[in-house]
Amino acid sequence: AETVRLLSSSQVINSVVNVVKELLENSLDAGSTSIDVKLENYGLDRIEVRDNGSGIEASDVAVMAVKHYTSKISCHEDLERLETYGFRGEALGSICAVSEVCVTTKTGADDVSIQYTLDVTGHIVSQRPSHLGQGTTVCALKLFKNLPVRRQYYSNTKKCKEEMKKVQDLLMAYAVVKPGLRVTLTHNKITIQGYFPKPGCDYTSSSSSSPDKTFVFVNDRPVHHKDILKLVRQFCSEDPSCRRYPTMMMNIIIPPSTVDVNVTPDKTQVMLHYKEAVLSAVEAMLVSLYGAAAK
Ligand code: ADP
Ligand code: MG
Repeated sequence: AETVRLLSSSQVINSVVNVVKELLENSLDAGSTSIDVKLENYGLDRIEVRDNGSGIEASDVAVMAVKHYTSKISCHEDLERLETYGFRGEALGSICAVSEVCVTTKTGADDVSIQYTLDVTGHIVSQRPSHLGQGTTVCALKLFKNLPVRRQYYSNTKKCKEEMKKVQDLLMAYAVVKPGLRVTLTHNKITIQGYFPKPGCDYTSSSSSSPDKTFVFVNDRPVHHKDILKLVRQFCSEDPSCRRYPTMMMNIIIPPSTVDVNVTPDKTQVMLHYKEAVLSAVEAMLVSLYGAAAK
C-alpha cells in the first residue's frame, strides 16, 4: 500500500512548482486576499504557503489530507457549477506522501491557531497551539526525500533556477487574474515587492537618463544602490549601451540584521551583507519579467 501511495502521489505532485500551484489554489479557494509563498533551497528544503483565508474547521482537519477528501463538492451536481480550483481532494494527501507536512490553521470562530503535523498517509500525528492569525499555513519540508532519484534530478542548479522561474511566472499569473490579491515570493529570506512596467511598454525604455523614476527600497527605506540600478538598467532596454532608467519601484525585504543603513548621514547608501544573494534575487526577478538581459 505504501508503494502504491508513493507512486500515485508522485504522479500528482512531480515538481516544486506543482506543490506551489496546489497550495496556492487551495488558498484562493479559501477566499484569501493575501498569500505569502516562501521557498528555501529553491523549495527542495521548504515550501511554505501562508494565507488569510477561511481556515479549516476542526472537523475537516482530521480528514483534509486523506485521499479523495474534499470539502468543495458534496453532490454530483456540484461538479457542474464548480467555482473552485480544487475538487478531487488529491493534492494535500499527495504532498504528504512525498514530503513532511505541517498545517497551521485558524477559522474566524477559533480562539487560537493549531499547528498539525501530518504523516505520510495524511493522518495527524501531533498538534499544538500556535500564534498565527486567521487563515492557513501549509509547510512542506524535504520534498521528494523518499524519491532520491527525483530529488537528485531537481537539485541541479540549472534545474533549480528553471523551477524558480516557473514559480514566479505562476504567482504573476494568479496576481494578474485576481485583482486585489496580494502575493509575495520569498526565496532564502529575500522578498521583492514592487511595481514593474510591462516588458516593452514605453515606461521601460523612454524614461530619463538619471534614475529619478527608478525607486529602490530596502525594507521600506529609499536607497541608492549602484549595483541594483545597473542591473535594472540592463534589463529594461534592448540596447545594452542605453543609459536610460525605467519607471519602476522595487522594495527588497531582507532580514534587518543583514543590512547596514548608517553608511552615510542621509542613510540612502546601504551596505548589504549578502550583496551577491540580493543581486541574484533581483536578477532572477527581472529575468522572469523581462527575459534575459541585453549584454
Ligand atoms: P481539493 O482542493 O481538491 O479539495 P486538496 O487535497 O487540495 O483537495 O485539499 C483538501 C481539503 O483541505 C480542501 O477541500 C479544503 O477543505 C482543505 N484545505 C486545504 N488547504 C486549505 C486552505 N489553504 N484553506 C482552507 N482549507 C484548505
Ligand atoms: Mg486543492
